[in-house]
Amino acid sequence: MNSAIGVDIGGTKLLAVRLEDGNLADEFKTSKPDDGAVMIEGIVAAFNKLAQGHEIAAIGVGVAGLVDFETGTFAWGPHVDGVNIRVRDELSTELGLPVAVDNDANTTAFAEYRLGAGQGSEAMVMLTLGTGIGGAMVFGGSLYRGRGFAGEFGHARFARGEHVCDCGQRGCWETEAAGPALERLARQLISDDPRGSLATVVDDVAPSGPAISAAASAGDPQAIALISQVGRNFGQGLASVISIFDPDRVVIGGGLGSIGEILLDPIRASANEARYAAEHKELPDIVGAQLGEQAGAVGAALLALEETQ
Ligand SMILES: [Zn+2]
Repeated sequence: MNSAIGVDIGGTKLLAVRLEDGNLADEFKTSKPDDGAVMIEGIVAAFNKLAQGHEIAAIGVGVAGLVDFETGTFAWGPHVDGVNIRVRDELSTELGLPVAVDNDANTTAFAEYRLGAGQGSEAMVMLTLGTGIGGAMVFGGSLYRGRGFAGEFGHARFARGEHVCDCGQRGCWETEAAGPALERLARQLISDDPRGSLATVVDDVAPSGPAISAAASAGDPQAIALISQVGRNFGQGLASVISIFDPDRVVIGGGLGSIGEILLDPIRASANEARYAAEHKELPDIVGAQLGEQAGAVGAALLALEETQ
């Protein structure tokens, strides 16, 4: 029997799946539990919706933030409320099943490695662009966690340091190369050029990241230029990531990351210009993620089966 429940808790949503023999059998999505006290209740409710009538071997949880994999504890996250929640112990008591708990970028990367854009890679780095920049590494088939908290790529320092990050520091990479940076650039552009094409298309002085992405996908030249700028900023940081890890594949996912070649092309060009020893080695493959928004939950279920059986 090879059936597991996976739950992904992000900044704005809870998404759960039932995985049967590596296939997505069912899913459930809701707006996120709004404080730490109800995180466990939210997971249990999602479990009950998907598990009813099925024999479940394990449950996996991916949470956006710092997770101690060894103890299954959610320590802290800038976009998720609650601190030091003993997710694994509380869930195994409540549900009587083996539980694995990890950072959501780790579970997402593990799913892409096993079933998506990372298949066959020996040294894969995954980066998710959305509200921030998350990341994870799968080396030789295993997630690399450091002491537990590795892969906080978004908080690597960007050189200029103009903008304060959600983490309280100044100049983190994600302040220049994720959704909020795109929205900031769009507000500035619309203020400078209120009769420009983007202002007309989005009809909003402060458009959201998804609205800007949609305008770019529909061909608006100003929106494409903004995505390109964010992609180039992203590529500058990615050059450092490539120098440090020398991966054979970089998988780009997340809400903003999923826009495709409009973003990936400037990322490749900028990373290629900025990287170390470019004339002596190939740029790694930089590809879009394949599994969509269910990846974090799917990977949590895969990890639960692998780590707890
Ligand atoms: Zn930061």
